[in-house]
Amino acid sequence: MPLFLPSPADDPSPLPRAYESTAPAAEDYPSLASPLAVEVAIAGGGITGLSAALHLAEAGVRVAVLERRTVAHGASGRAFGNVVPYAKHQHGHILKHFGAEAGQRIVGALAAGPAAVYGLARKHGIDCEVVQNGLIFAAHNRAAEASLRERADYWRTRGGGVDFLDGPETARLTGTTYYGASVLDRRGGTINPLAYTRGLARAAATAGAAIFEGTPVESIERHGKGWRLRTEGGPVTAERVLICASAYIGALHPALARCFVPMRAYQLVSRPVSPNLLAAILPGGQTLTDTRRLFSGVRVVAGGRIHVSADGPVFDAAAAPFADQSTDRIRALYPEIGTIDWEEAWTGWVAVTRDEYPRVHELAEGLWTAYGYSGRGIAFGTLLGRQLAWHAAPHAHGGDPAAAFFPVTPAAPIFGHALARPALSLFMGYLRWRDRRDLAGAGR
Ligand SMILES: Cc1cc2nc3c(=O)[nH]c(=O)nc-3n(C[C@H](O)[C@H](O)[C@H](O)COP(=O)(O)OP(=O)(O)OC[C@H]3O[C@@H](n4cnc5c(N)ncnc54)[C@H](O)[C@@H]3O)c2cc1C
Repeated sequence: MPLFLPSPADDPSPLPRAYESTAPAAEDYPSLASPLAVEVAIAGGGITGLSAALHLAEAGVRVAVLERRTVAHGASGRAFGNVVPYAKHQHGHILKHFGAEAGQRIVGALAAGPAAVYGLARKHGIDCEVVQNGLIFAAHNRAAEASLRERADYWRTRGGGVDFLDGPETARLTGTTYYGASVLDRRGGTINPLAYTRGLARAAATAGAAIFEGTPVESIERHGKGWRLRTEGGPVTAERVLICASAYIGALHPALARCFVPMRAYQLVSRPVSPNLLAAILPGGQTLTDTRRLFSGVRVVAGGRIHVSADGPVFDAAAAPFADQSTDRIRALYPEIGTIDWEEAWTGWVAVTRDEYPRVHELAEGLWTAYGYSGRGIAFGTLLGRQLAWHAAPHAHGGDPAAAFFPVTPAAPIFGHALARPALSLFMGYLRWRDRRDLAGAGR
């Protein structure tokens, strides 16, 4: 396992065919070819940067998005597609970590995250295969059943939307008797993330944002009271800058790049499954994930294909993702499935922070960033893009200070960052072992 990992910034891997085949075609945005002056410049054309651009442009701010490759080239065009109303950690952990008041604000904002995503899709006519019939989160062992019951209880008096399902109810919706209990979170759902991200770009451009593809930002320097961004096509001067480059940041801001570890996440999509077998898989039409620590997403997508999130090498994609393990996992749920023919595999990079909580920093006056959503960035990135817009221009998003729900903290590079990579690799191995031990303990 290499100490110096392949840089996500150099990863040219194409966007998933599974998403391309049903998403509206990409718009053709130009590369920057001459000097530009704007109020706000954004480096990175994923969900965070484009949500920020849309909210700024709607508020009449002169804004430009500079994207190294193409819109959605990063994690945003490769996500599994779950639009989740919660963070990696449970609400109790969030309240403890951030304190009751800030924690409550975060939990509340996230609960409304899917509504924000679906609201934007509706408002801007973004055709992104919205399925809004809830997410099933199943318990992989008895201890997890208790925590899911607690989750449903918590929400019962706070707006609801989270139903505890016993074994038979879980089996009815999932088509498998593998799980003893689950919650159905009615607030969440799925989208085609590539289509959503492209739709955000189109909406931002329609509202007046300038979008440039094939335009890597090479450096960001102080320029009077504002900033100058160096690009091959000429300098961009801006009063404020948003770095929305996430794991793909490369050498743009070395201190920021040391605040997280980029990690690969994998997806697999099968060839079409025969309709009689398919009828028994997730008959309720929801996505299924479970309380295991690693990679448990399963859903059925267009053309009767099974789509799973898969385990795989943390950094080096030379080895194939763990297709056999994915097959075994689906067979454990649906023994009648037989052989699964995987049609496509892809990978993307996520930014893992020390505590798996996102970060919002003001790196210097007028230079902002947000990242680190731990695989929850569709809603979180949309919300924190909106928050960055508010920091850059407080009259954005109707001047509503509720947009700024997430605490702004100083950037703190991870001590011994080069060693954080092998440490993360070891940690993932440990989580795999814990998951296997839990499943064995539960007789699975
Ligand atoms: C395989 C996978 C599955 C996932 N599944 C889910 C899911 O089901 N649900 C969910 O909510 N989240 C999921 N996530 C996480 C989610 O996709 C991310 O958190 C979110 O897309 C991050 O968006 P972003 O805009 O911050 O970053 P990105 O989408 O990574 O965008 C960063 C952009 O910045 C550009 N860039 C970088 N450096 C520069 C530079 N110097 N100049 C110009 N441009 C630059 C990159 O090219 C890239 O396009 C998943 C992620 C992966 C990889």
